[in-house]
Amino acid sequence: HKYSAEDIKEMATEENVEFICLMFTDINGMIKNVEVPVSQIDKVLANKITFDGSSIDGFTRIEESDMLLHPDLSTWLIFPWGSEHGKVARLICDIYETDGTPFKGDPRYNLNRIIKKMQGMGYSNFNIGPEPEFFLFNTDEKGRPTLQLNDDGSYFDFSPVDLGENCRRDIVMILEKMGFEIEASHHEVAPGQQEIDFKYEDALSAADSIQTFKLVVKTVAKRHGLYATFMPKPLQGINGSGMHINMSLFKGDDNVFDDTDDMLSETAKQFLSGLMTHARALTAVNNPTVNSYKRLVPGYEAPTYIAWSSKNRSPLIRVPAAKGKSKRLEMRSVDPTTNPYLAIAAILDAGLDGLASDYKLMPEVKENIYAMTDERREELGITDLPSTLHNSLKALRKDKYVQESLGKQLTNSLFTAKNAEWDKYCQTVSQWERDTYMFQY
Ligand code: GLN
Ligand code: MG
Ligand code: MG
Ligand code: MG
Repeated sequence: HKYSAEDIKEMATEENVEFICLMFTDINGMIKNVEVPVSQIDKVLANKITFDGSSIDGFTRIEESDMLLHPDLSTWLIFPWGSEHGKVARLICDIYETDGTPFKGDPRYNLNRIIKKMQGMGYSNFNIGPEPEFFLFNTDEKGRPTLQLNDDGSYFDFSPVDLGENCRRDIVMILEKMGFEIEASHHEVAPGQQEIDFKYEDALSAADSIQTFKLVVKTVAKRHGLYATFMPKPLQGINGSGMHINMSLFKGDDNVFDDTDDMLSETAKQFLSGLMTHARALTAVNNPTVNSYKRLVPGYEAPTYIAWSSKNRSPLIRVPAAKGKSKRLEMRSVDPTTNPYLAIAAILDAGLDGLASDYKLMPEVKENIYAMTDERREELGITDLPSTLHNSLKALRKDKYVQESLGKQLTNSLFTAKNAEWDKYCQTVSQWERDTYMFQY
């Protein structure tokens, strides 16, 4: 919605809003929130609310740490759940330096930067339809998550209410109240696992929506006495949670990925060649946690190879059978721990590189890649996705183009945060190691 400052003041008064959450996202994809009482609304709308950026991951700078919040008025929304102190509204903000320039370490700013680049190349919209998956766990007396899945009952159990299903319906209803258009919601393959798909939106709105979505899912689950997690692989031996990213590129009303005769337009193929070329480095952005790589293993419907196909779901990129406005590419590696602003910016910019270059696109793979021999894969030019966070960070180190897609400051923050995470993990001795080696040696 296009709201003016006046509209917002009116809505705040009419709806008795008492608090305003000023939201933004840090390098790790965490939603940060500066909450002000409604009495500060003039200051909010004049872009005058400051906060101390020095304690935010990826925001730290040495000399000066005060930063300004510039609310994006189109993101005004009143949370459908009340607080005992009255209604709470939110605005998603861009971060500015006190000298009035945009803060280069703000992931939302960076996505806007890449969107402007796309517009400069003559395209109007990059549309994103995400498919986030998550697990619902039971909680203990203290409200902490247990490892017990909420719907692990056996087939013959007569359970009057499926807690998970009820919770999911509640999430969908609340999202709809908040203006989401929910296309589908269903139980996923694993016990306790759910998926809710919302309608595609332009890149920036989609990233905002993904952040809001995670907040709603966690809030509603809590009210049902459940704990929702977007951790990619909470339990071994069953599927993990991904967040497939469906994408299409528009010029005005035309989906330039669509082609009447062919499966994909030439433009779509070029865009795809950019995604394939930068696939390894993109993995550091799309799968940014140690745990992400426990999901990217064979046998659990998650991709492990760099390939594309319209025929099966084992490769990195699938071309769903859809025509016209719905013609799209589906990137299946992405998981919900990604920072959606970074992921969408990097994916879009990789595609734009494909449009501007002339990379050779490998042929579509029609066989099941999981079932191929190593020799057959080599024959077809199919390579592996990075198998660890360490390997994807190495790939990002080598790919200057993807580093540029994030900008210097965000690239540095990402490396700092993720190298530390990897080092910590490497120093951890796990139960698996003790079980395997303690008695053997
Ligand atoms: N959960 C699977 C994954 O990890 C996807 C399953 C599906 O949506 N077909 O990506
Ligand atoms: Mg799906
Ligand atoms: Mg799914
Ligand atoms: Mg999908």
